[in-house]
Amino acid sequence: MLISAVVPCYNEEKVIEMTYRELSSALSGITDDYEMIFVNDGSRDGTLAVLKEKADADSHVKYISFSRNFGKESAMLAGLRYSSGDYTVIMDADLQHPPELIAEMLAYGRQGYDQVIAQRDRAGEKKIGSFFARWYYRLVDRLTDVELVDGIGDFRLLSRKALNALLTMNEYNRFSKGLFSWIGFREKIISYQNRTRAAGESKWSFRALVRYGVDGVLSFNNKPLRFCFFIGAFAIILSLLYLVFLFLSIVFKGIDLPGYFTTIFTICLFGGVQLISIGIIGEYVGRIYYEVKRRPHYLVDESNFESDNHSAK
Ligand code: UDP
Ligand code: MG
Repeated sequence: MLISAVVPCYNEEKVIEMTYRELSSALSGITDDYEMIFVNDGSRDGTLAVLKEKADADSHVKYISFSRNFGKESAMLAGLRYSSGDYTVIMDADLQHPPELIAEMLAYGRQGYDQVIAQRDRAGEKKIGSFFARWYYRLVDRLTDVELVDGIGDFRLLSRKALNALLTMNEYNRFSKGLFSWIGFREKIISYQNRTRAAGESKWSFRALVRYGVDGVLSFNNKPLRFCFFIGAFAIILSLLYLVFLFLSIVFKGIDLPGYFTTIFTICLFGGVQLISIGIIGEYVGRIYYEVKRRPHYLVDESNFESDNHSAK
């Protein structure tokens, strides 16, 4: 197999047909040795029916269907595990990732680049959304050890080497953007014009975005914990200075009782600092809890792959 395309799909019945057509015409223009792996992430609409119909008609179509919605990260992971291509492309089901770019990506792959990444501009996007996204990337870049670049999503081509490296990471909380960057290897970035979704609607609610954002910061290192430590140290130094000041003023001026404001202020300030710190620690403990359970990332309900030994890992 030369090239495999992995497409996570969740409630995409409105667009999946079109995606199939564009993707298969782009791939068949390159080679006949390709497969399209559609991962049905527990869709509640007719996505699976469409996929089955396509699979019956076209032997290039493979599908994996989950027992419920496990999230895009899990869907991508499944597709990557089942991929047998020398090169694997990951793309969204809504045609926001133009399939005609694959030929160019493959050309770079053949030149020896292990990750060929398509970077989009933010044209046509809601101003406020892109403003927050830009700042988020700046913040994450500061906070974590991995390098994240704005406009880079999951649309990329991976060599077998990069893909195998990615599959060695079995963590439960997957933050792909970070994992891709963590594995390294030779990277090439090409850019394309931003597109809006061809049909259907985005699955991202504001809450999901916030959760994803927190994941990005916390799943890659322990800098937030260190941050608590520094706040604590800073507070201790300040209070020691204040203590010296109070002591000297008592020695030279005698005890003077009023101190209500400073007392309350200190209680509130340190109460807040402590709560935040406990919260951050709690986030980590929660993550450890999920990791140690070692549950599978997804459960396959049905698929048209002959052997099903990929999912057991
Ligand atoms: N997706 C998925 N599982 C989910 C949510 C999304 O497989 O729980 C897929 C979805 O079908 C699409 C891709 O992830 O192919 C990106 O989703 P979406 O277009 O909603 O995100 P956006 O482009 O708005 O960031
Ligand atoms: Mg989309």
